[in-house]
Amino acid sequence: MRDDAPLRRAAPFLVAMLVGFAAVHIQAEGSRSPSFLIALALGCLLVASIPLIPWTRLPSIATVLPPLLLVGIVAFLRETSSDSDALTPLILLPVLWLALHGTRLGVTLGLGAVALALFVPFLATSDTSVVPGERQSALMWLLVATLTGLAVNGLVRDLRDRAHAFEQTSRLDPLTGLENRRVLESQLPVEIQRARAHDYPICVAMLDLDHFKLFNDRFGHLAGDGLLEEVAERWRQCLRSHDTLARYGGEEFCGIFPNVDLVGAGRIADRLSAGMPEGQTVSIGLAQVTDHDAAETALARADAALYQAKCAGRNRTASLVPPEAPATAWTTRPRVDSHADETAETA
Ligand code: GH3
Ligand code: MG
Ligand code: MG
Repeated sequence: MRDDAPLRRAAPFLVAMLVGFAAVHIQAEGSRSPSFLIALALGCLLVASIPLIPWTRLPSIATVLPPLLLVGIVAFLRETSSDSDALTPLILLPVLWLALHGTRLGVTLGLGAVALALFVPFLATSDTSVVPGERQSALMWLLVATLTGLAVNGLVRDLRDRAHAFEQTSRLDPLTGLENRRVLESQLPVEIQRARAHDYPICVAMLDLDHFKLFNDRFGHLAGDGLLEEVAERWRQCLRSHDTLARYGGEEFCGIFPNVDLVGAGRIADRLSAGMPEGQTVSIGLAQVTDHDAAETALARADAALYQAKCAGRNRTASLVPPEAPATAWTTRPRVDSHADETAETA
Protein backbone atom coordinates (compact mmCIF):
# COMPACT_ATOMS: atom_id res chain seq x y z
CA MET A 1 0.00 0.00 0.00
CA ARG A 2 1.67 3.16 -1.18
CA ASP A 3 -0.79 5.94 -0.65
CA ASP A 4 -3.18 6.16 2.26
CA ALA A 5 -4.70 9.54 1.35
CA PRO A 6 -8.06 8.07 0.21
CA LEU A 7 -8.49 6.31 3.57
CA ARG A 8 -7.56 9.43 5.51
CA ARG A 9 -10.05 11.47 3.56
CA ALA A 10 -12.76 8.83 3.87
CA ALA A 11 -12.39 8.29 7.63
CA PRO A 12 -14.51 11.26 8.84
CA PHE A 13 -17.33 10.27 6.45
CA LEU A 14 -17.17 6.66 7.60
CA VAL A 15 -17.38 7.74 11.26
CA ALA A 16 -20.26 10.10 10.45
CA MET A 17 -22.09 7.27 8.66
CA LEU A 18 -21.54 4.86 11.53
CA VAL A 19 -22.70 7.35 14.17
CA GLY A 20 -25.60 8.53 12.00
CA PHE A 21 -26.95 5.05 11.38
CA ALA A 22 -26.57 4.07 15.02
CA ALA A 23 -28.21 7.31 16.24
CA VAL A 24 -31.21 6.79 13.98
CA HIS A 25 -31.40 3.19 15.14
CA ILE A 26 -31.17 4.03 18.85
CA GLN A 27 -33.81 6.71 18.46
CA ALA A 28 -36.16 4.39 16.58
CA GLU A 29 -35.55 1.32 18.72
CA GLY A 30 -34.61 2.76 22.05
CA SER A 31 -31.91 0.09 22.06
CA ARG A 32 -29.34 1.11 24.62
CA SER A 33 -28.00 -2.25 25.74
CA PRO A 34 -24.42 -1.94 27.05
CA SER A 35 -23.07 -4.48 24.53
CA PHE A 36 -24.69 -2.56 21.66
CA LEU A 37 -23.15 0.71 22.85
CA ILE A 38 -19.72 -0.89 23.42
CA ALA A 39 -19.71 -2.44 19.95
CA LEU A 40 -20.78 0.89 18.49
CA ALA A 41 -18.02 2.77 20.37
CA LEU A 42 -15.46 0.18 19.22
CA GLY A 43 -16.57 0.60 15.62
CA CYS A 44 -16.31 4.41 15.86
CA LEU A 45 -12.87 4.18 17.51
CA LEU A 46 -11.66 1.80 14.85
CA VAL A 47 -12.74 4.03 12.00
CA ALA A 48 -11.63 7.26 13.70
CA SER A 49 -8.14 5.79 14.21
CA ILE A 50 -7.62 5.38 10.46
CA PRO A 51 -5.82 8.70 9.91
CA LEU A 52 -3.52 8.10 12.91
CA ILE A 53 -2.19 4.72 11.79
CA PRO A 54 0.93 4.78 9.56
CA TRP A 55 -0.59 2.40 6.99
CA THR A 56 2.20 2.82 4.48
CA ARG A 57 4.70 1.38 6.95
CA LEU A 58 2.63 -1.67 7.85
CA PRO A 59 2.55 -4.86 5.80
CA SER A 60 -0.31 -4.77 3.30
CA ILE A 61 -2.16 -7.59 5.11
CA ALA A 62 -2.68 -5.16 8.03
CA THR A 63 -5.14 -3.16 5.94
CA VAL A 64 -7.46 -6.15 5.65
CA LEU A 65 -7.75 -6.73 9.40
CA PRO A 66 -9.62 -3.55 10.47
CA PRO A 67 -12.38 -3.94 7.87
CA LEU A 68 -12.81 -7.60 8.80
CA LEU A 69 -13.07 -6.54 12.44
CA LEU A 70 -15.60 -3.93 11.37
CA VAL A 71 -17.65 -6.61 9.62
CA GLY A 72 -17.62 -8.52 12.91
CA ILE A 73 -18.77 -5.45 14.84
CA VAL A 74 -21.59 -4.78 12.36
CA ALA A 75 -22.65 -8.43 12.55
CA PHE A 76 -22.69 -8.15 16.35
CA LEU A 77 -24.69 -4.89 16.26
CA ARG A 78 -27.26 -6.57 14.02
CA GLU A 79 -27.47 -9.55 16.35
CA THR A 80 -28.08 -7.44 19.45
CA SER A 81 -30.66 -5.30 17.74
CA SER A 82 -34.27 -6.27 17.46
CA ASP A 83 -34.40 -4.81 13.96
CA SER A 84 -31.21 -6.05 12.30
CA ASP A 85 -32.34 -4.76 8.91
CA ALA A 86 -31.99 -1.14 9.95
CA LEU A 87 -28.28 -1.66 10.62
CA THR A 88 -27.53 -3.68 7.50
CA PRO A 89 -26.35 -0.66 5.43
CA LEU A 90 -23.42 -0.37 7.87
CA ILE A 91 -21.98 -3.38 6.09
CA LEU A 92 -20.96 -0.95 3.33
CA LEU A 93 -18.35 0.68 5.61
CA PRO A 94 -15.80 -2.16 5.61
CA VAL A 95 -16.48 -2.78 1.93
CA LEU A 96 -15.74 0.88 1.17
CA TRP A 97 -12.61 0.68 3.30
CA LEU A 98 -11.30 -2.27 1.34
CA ALA A 99 -12.40 -0.82 -1.99
CA LEU A 100 -10.49 2.39 -1.29
CA HIS A 101 -7.37 0.69 -0.10
CA GLY A 102 -7.37 -2.99 -0.72
CA THR A 103 -6.24 -5.20 -3.53
CA ARG A 104 -8.82 -7.11 -5.56
CA LEU A 105 -8.12 -10.12 -3.32
CA GLY A 106 -8.73 -7.99 -0.21
CA VAL A 107 -12.06 -6.78 -1.57
CA THR A 108 -13.07 -10.34 -2.43
CA LEU A 109 -12.14 -11.50 1.08
CA GLY A 110 -14.13 -8.60 2.55
CA LEU A 111 -17.17 -9.43 0.43
CA GLY A 112 -16.91 -13.04 1.57
CA ALA A 113 -16.91 -11.85 5.19
CA VAL A 114 -19.88 -9.59 4.48
CA ALA A 115 -21.79 -12.50 2.95
CA LEU A 116 -21.07 -14.57 6.06
CA ALA A 117 -22.15 -11.73 8.37
CA LEU A 118 -25.41 -11.31 6.46
CA PHE A 119 -26.36 -14.95 6.02
CA VAL A 120 -24.93 -16.87 9.00
CA PRO A 121 -27.76 -15.63 11.30
CA PHE A 122 -30.28 -17.23 8.92
CA LEU A 123 -28.31 -20.46 8.66
CA ALA A 124 -27.72 -20.63 12.41
CA THR A 125 -31.33 -20.17 13.39
CA SER A 126 -33.99 -22.80 13.14
CA ASP A 127 -36.54 -20.09 13.73
CA THR A 128 -38.99 -20.45 10.91
CA SER A 129 -40.43 -17.04 11.66
CA VAL A 130 -37.57 -15.45 9.69
CA VAL A 131 -39.55 -13.91 6.93
CA PRO A 132 -38.37 -14.39 3.34
CA GLY A 133 -38.26 -10.57 3.05
CA GLU A 134 -35.26 -10.48 5.42
CA ARG A 135 -33.36 -12.93 3.26
CA GLN A 136 -34.18 -10.88 0.20
CA SER A 137 -33.03 -7.75 1.94
CA ALA A 138 -29.74 -9.46 2.94
CA LEU A 139 -29.29 -10.59 -0.64
CA MET A 140 -29.93 -7.08 -1.91
CA TRP A 141 -27.37 -5.58 0.48
CA LEU A 142 -24.83 -8.17 -0.55
CA LEU A 143 -25.44 -7.20 -4.17
CA VAL A 144 -25.12 -3.48 -3.36
CA ALA A 145 -21.94 -4.13 -1.35
CA THR A 146 -20.44 -6.22 -4.16
CA LEU A 147 -21.20 -3.68 -6.88
CA THR A 148 -20.04 -0.75 -4.75
CA GLY A 149 -16.88 -2.55 -3.64
CA LEU A 150 -15.85 -3.70 -7.11
CA ALA A 151 -16.72 -0.40 -8.80
CA VAL A 152 -14.92 1.80 -6.25
CA ASN A 153 -11.93 -0.55 -6.11
CA GLY A 154 -11.72 -0.61 -9.92
CA LEU A 155 -11.78 3.18 -10.03
CA VAL A 156 -9.15 3.53 -7.30
CA ARG A 157 -6.82 1.02 -8.97
CA ASP A 158 -7.30 2.69 -12.33
CA LEU A 159 -6.45 6.07 -10.81
CA ARG A 160 -3.41 4.58 -9.09
CA ASP A 161 -2.14 3.04 -12.35
CA ARG A 162 -2.61 6.32 -14.20
CA ALA A 163 -0.86 8.28 -11.45
CA HIS A 164 2.03 5.80 -11.55
CA ALA A 165 2.31 6.01 -15.35
CA PHE A 166 2.14 9.80 -15.21
CA GLU A 167 4.82 9.89 -12.52
CA GLN A 168 7.07 7.68 -14.65
CA THR A 169 6.68 9.86 -17.75
CA SER A 170 7.27 13.02 -15.78
CA ARG A 171 10.48 11.55 -14.31
CA LEU A 172 12.09 10.13 -17.42
CA ASP A 173 13.66 11.70 -20.45
CA PRO A 174 11.69 10.24 -23.38
CA LEU A 175 14.69 9.88 -25.72
CA THR A 176 17.24 8.19 -23.48
CA GLY A 177 15.03 6.75 -20.73
CA LEU A 178 17.38 8.32 -18.17
CA GLU A 179 15.97 10.42 -15.36
CA ASN A 180 15.44 14.04 -16.28
CA ARG A 181 16.86 17.24 -14.87
CA ARG A 182 13.85 17.85 -12.61
CA VAL A 183 14.38 14.49 -10.88
CA LEU A 184 18.10 15.10 -10.58
CA GLU A 185 17.57 18.48 -8.99
CA SER A 186 15.15 17.07 -6.45
CA GLN A 187 17.24 13.95 -5.80
CA LEU A 188 20.64 15.58 -5.36
CA PRO A 189 19.84 17.39 -2.07
CA VAL A 190 18.36 14.14 -0.72
CA GLU A 191 21.49 12.17 -1.67
CA ILE A 192 23.73 14.85 -0.17
CA GLN A 193 21.70 14.80 3.04
CA ARG A 194 21.97 11.01 3.21
CA ALA A 195 25.73 11.13 2.59
CA ARG A 196 26.15 13.63 5.42
CA ALA A 197 23.96 11.63 7.76
CA HIS A 198 25.98 8.46 7.12
CA ASP A 199 29.27 10.31 6.85
CA TYR A 200 30.41 9.14 3.43
CA PRO A 201 31.72 11.22 0.50
CA ILE A 202 29.62 12.03 -2.54
CA CYS A 203 30.58 13.44 -5.93
CA VAL A 204 28.70 15.02 -8.80
CA ALA A 205 29.64 15.00 -12.47
CA MET A 206 28.66 17.06 -15.49
CA LEU A 207 29.19 15.32 -18.80
CA ASP A 208 29.01 16.87 -22.26
CA LEU A 209 29.49 15.06 -25.56
CA ASP A 210 32.27 16.59 -27.64
CA HIS A 211 31.45 18.28 -30.93
CA PHE A 212 27.94 16.88 -30.97
CA LYS A 213 26.72 19.67 -33.20
CA LEU A 214 29.22 18.58 -35.83
CA PHE A 215 27.96 15.01 -35.55
CA ASN A 216 24.41 16.28 -36.13
CA ASP A 217 25.52 18.40 -39.04
CA ARG A 218 27.34 15.53 -40.63
CA PHE A 219 24.98 12.60 -40.00
CA GLY A 220 21.66 14.31 -39.37
CA HIS A 221 19.55 14.98 -36.32
CA LEU A 222 18.04 11.49 -36.23
CA ALA A 223 21.48 9.91 -36.12
CA GLY A 224 22.29 12.39 -33.33
CA ASP A 225 19.25 11.15 -31.43
CA GLY A 226 20.43 7.59 -31.98
CA LEU A 227 23.84 8.45 -30.62
CA LEU A 228 22.30 9.96 -27.48
CA GLU A 229 20.27 6.77 -26.96
CA GLU A 230 23.29 4.55 -27.50
CA VAL A 231 25.47 6.59 -25.16
CA ALA A 232 22.81 6.45 -22.44
CA GLU A 233 22.47 2.68 -22.85
CA ARG A 234 26.23 2.13 -22.71
CA TRP A 235 26.61 4.38 -19.67
CA ARG A 236 23.85 2.56 -17.83
CA GLN A 237 26.06 -0.55 -17.97
CA CYS A 238 29.04 1.35 -16.53
CA LEU A 239 27.35 2.61 -13.38
CA ARG A 240 26.91 1.08 -9.96
CA SER A 241 23.32 0.42 -8.86
CA HIS A 242 23.28 3.41 -6.51
CA ASP A 243 24.72 5.91 -9.01
CA THR A 244 22.31 8.28 -10.73
CA LEU A 245 22.72 9.50 -14.27
CA ALA A 246 20.29 12.04 -15.65
CA ARG A 247 19.97 13.81 -18.98
CA TYR A 248 20.52 17.41 -18.01
CA GLY A 249 19.48 18.76 -21.41
CA GLY A 250 20.65 18.44 -25.03
CA GLU A 251 23.89 16.43 -25.07
CA GLU A 252 24.63 17.19 -21.43
CA PHE A 253 24.28 14.68 -18.64
CA CYS A 254 24.70 14.83 -14.91
CA GLY A 255 25.77 12.11 -12.51
CA ILE A 256 25.51 11.61 -8.77
CA PHE A 257 28.08 9.18 -7.38
CA PRO A 258 27.55 8.42 -3.69
CA ASN A 259 30.15 6.83 -1.44
CA VAL A 260 33.18 7.78 -3.54
CA ASP A 261 35.71 10.61 -3.22
CA LEU A 262 37.22 12.36 -6.23
CA VAL A 263 39.56 9.42 -6.86
CA GLY A 264 36.65 6.96 -7.02
CA ALA A 265 34.55 9.38 -9.08
CA GLY A 266 37.51 9.75 -11.47
CA ARG A 267 37.47 5.98 -11.98
CA ILE A 268 33.74 6.03 -12.76
CA ALA A 269 34.35 8.92 -15.18
CA ASP A 270 37.06 6.88 -16.86
CA ARG A 271 34.61 3.99 -17.31
CA LEU A 272 32.00 6.32 -18.80
CA SER A 273 34.55 7.84 -21.09
CA ALA A 274 35.78 4.42 -22.22
CA GLY A 275 32.15 3.36 -22.74
CA MET A 276 31.62 5.95 -25.47
CA PRO A 277 30.83 4.56 -28.93
CA GLU A 278 33.76 4.30 -31.29
CA GLY A 279 34.79 7.66 -32.68
CA GLN A 280 32.93 9.73 -30.08
CA THR A 281 34.31 11.44 -27.00
CA VAL A 282 32.98 13.12 -23.89
CA SER A 283 34.30 15.79 -21.54
CA ILE A 284 33.55 15.39 -17.84
CA GLY A 285 33.68 17.79 -14.91
CA LEU A 286 33.79 16.38 -11.38
CA ALA A 287 33.24 17.91 -7.95
CA GLN A 288 33.15 16.36 -4.52
CA VAL A 289 30.38 17.78 -2.35
CA THR A 290 31.87 19.43 0.74
CA ASP A 291 30.27 19.67 4.19
CA HIS A 292 29.00 23.15 3.44
CA ASP A 293 28.05 22.77 -0.21
CA ALA A 294 24.50 23.31 -1.35
CA ALA A 295 23.50 21.03 -4.23
CA GLU A 296 23.65 23.95 -6.68
CA THR A 297 27.16 24.92 -5.52
CA ALA A 298 28.48 21.42 -6.13
CA LEU A 299 26.80 21.30 -9.55
CA ALA A 300 28.22 24.70 -10.45
CA ARG A 301 31.70 23.50 -9.49
CA ALA A 302 31.31 20.35 -11.61
CA ASP A 303 30.14 22.57 -14.47
CA ALA A 304 33.18 24.83 -14.05
CA ALA A 305 35.38 21.72 -14.10
CA LEU A 306 33.65 20.60 -17.30
CA TYR A 307 34.43 23.98 -18.83
CA GLN A 308 38.07 23.48 -17.88
CA ALA A 309 38.05 20.04 -19.52
CA LYS A 310 36.61 21.53 -22.71
CA CYS A 311 39.15 24.35 -22.71
CA ALA A 312 41.99 21.91 -22.13
CA GLY A 313 41.12 20.17 -25.41
CA ARG A 314 38.02 17.97 -24.68
CA ASN A 315 37.97 14.17 -24.37
CA ARG A 316 39.10 14.35 -20.74
CA THR A 317 37.94 14.63 -17.15
CA ALA A 318 38.71 17.54 -14.86
CA SER A 319 37.84 18.15 -11.24
CA LEU A 320 37.63 21.28 -9.18
CA VAL A 321 38.30 21.41 -5.46
CA PRO A 322 37.01 24.30 -3.34
CA PRO A 323 37.98 27.00 -2.63
CA GLU A 324 38.18 27.75 -6.33
CA ALA A 325 41.43 25.87 -6.83
CA PRO A 326 42.69 25.51 -10.39
CA ALA A 327 41.32 22.55 -12.24
CA THR A 328 43.14 19.29 -12.05
CA ALA A 329 43.13 17.40 -15.31
CA TRP A 330 41.96 14.00 -14.19
CA THR A 331 42.44 11.76 -17.14
CA THR A 332 43.51 12.46 -20.62
CA ARG A 333 42.68 9.85 -23.16
CA PRO A 334 43.23 11.34 -26.58
CA ARG A 335 41.73 9.06 -29.19
CA VAL A 336 43.47 9.23 -32.49
CA ASP A 337 40.49 7.55 -34.16
CA SER A 338 38.04 9.99 -32.67
CA HIS A 339 35.38 11.12 -35.10
CA ALA A 340 34.92 14.17 -32.88
CA ASP A 341 38.55 15.14 -33.38
CA GLU A 342 38.27 14.63 -37.11
CA THR A 343 35.15 16.72 -37.41
CA ALA A 344 36.66 19.37 -35.16
CA GLU A 345 39.62 19.60 -37.41
CA THR A 346 37.51 19.86 -40.52
CA ALA A 347 35.24 22.48 -38.92
P1 GH3 B 1 31.27 20.99 -27.41
O1 GH3 B 1 32.31 19.97 -27.70
O2 GH3 B 1 31.84 22.33 -27.12
O3 GH3 B 1 30.32 20.58 -26.38
O4 GH3 B 1 30.48 21.18 -28.78
P2 GH3 B 1 29.05 20.66 -29.11
O5 GH3 B 1 28.87 20.74 -30.58
O6 GH3 B 1 28.84 19.32 -28.51
O7 GH3 B 1 28.12 21.66 -28.32
P3 GH3 B 1 27.09 22.72 -28.83
O8 GH3 B 1 26.51 23.32 -27.59
O9 GH3 B 1 27.73 23.67 -29.81
O10 GH3 B 1 26.01 21.91 -29.61
C1 GH3 B 1 25.16 21.02 -28.99
C2 GH3 B 1 24.23 20.49 -30.04
O11 GH3 B 1 23.41 19.48 -29.52
C3 GH3 B 1 23.33 21.53 -30.64
C4 GH3 B 1 21.98 20.89 -30.69
O12 GH3 B 1 21.43 20.95 -31.98
C5 GH3 B 1 22.27 19.46 -30.33
N1 GH3 B 1 21.17 18.83 -29.62
C6 GH3 B 1 20.62 19.22 -28.45
N2 GH3 B 1 19.64 18.37 -28.10
C7 GH3 B 1 19.56 17.42 -29.08
C8 GH3 B 1 18.75 16.27 -29.27
O13 GH3 B 1 17.87 15.94 -28.48
N3 GH3 B 1 18.96 15.53 -30.40
C9 GH3 B 1 19.93 15.87 -31.31
N4 GH3 B 1 20.11 15.10 -32.37
N5 GH3 B 1 20.70 16.95 -31.15
C10 GH3 B 1 20.54 17.72 -30.04
MG1 MG C 1 28.86 19.19 -26.41
MG1 MG D 1 26.60 21.26 -24.45
